[in-house]
Amino acid sequence: MKRELTCIICPLGCSLVAELEDGQVTAVKGNTCPRGAVYAREECTNPKRTVTSTVRCKDGSMVSVKTDGTIPKEKMAECMDAINHVILDLPVSVGDVIIEDIFGCNVVATQNKRV
Ligand code: SF4
Repeated sequence: MKRELTCIICPLGCSLVAELEDGQVTAVKGNTCPRGAVYAREECTNPKRTVTSTVRCKDGSMVSVKTDGTIPKEKMAECMDAINHVILDLPVSVGDVIIEDIFGCNVVATQNKRV
């Protein structure tokens, strides 16, 4: 079985073809660099994503946030649910931890917001 992917690691966006056998990646073609092969293997066996979103503040405004690493793709909805339940006190600074240790990552603020 073959799976076609677009590498999202850098802006070049190489077109990759992963060959799979019994759920295992046996070969990757089309990658310009080794990072593409690593990406294809992970995407086919254990896909992960960075989550970006916004959280509500007590004054009604919103602050942008993201995970500081990647989480399993199948856990994104659960992570979004946790993010949607947060109501922040201001002020908030870039890098402040909004949710600690969720699926091995922290959710951190990506913007500054004053009272
Ligand atoms: S394979 Fe390498 S060069 Fe191509 S998009 Fe992925 S990271 Fe960039």
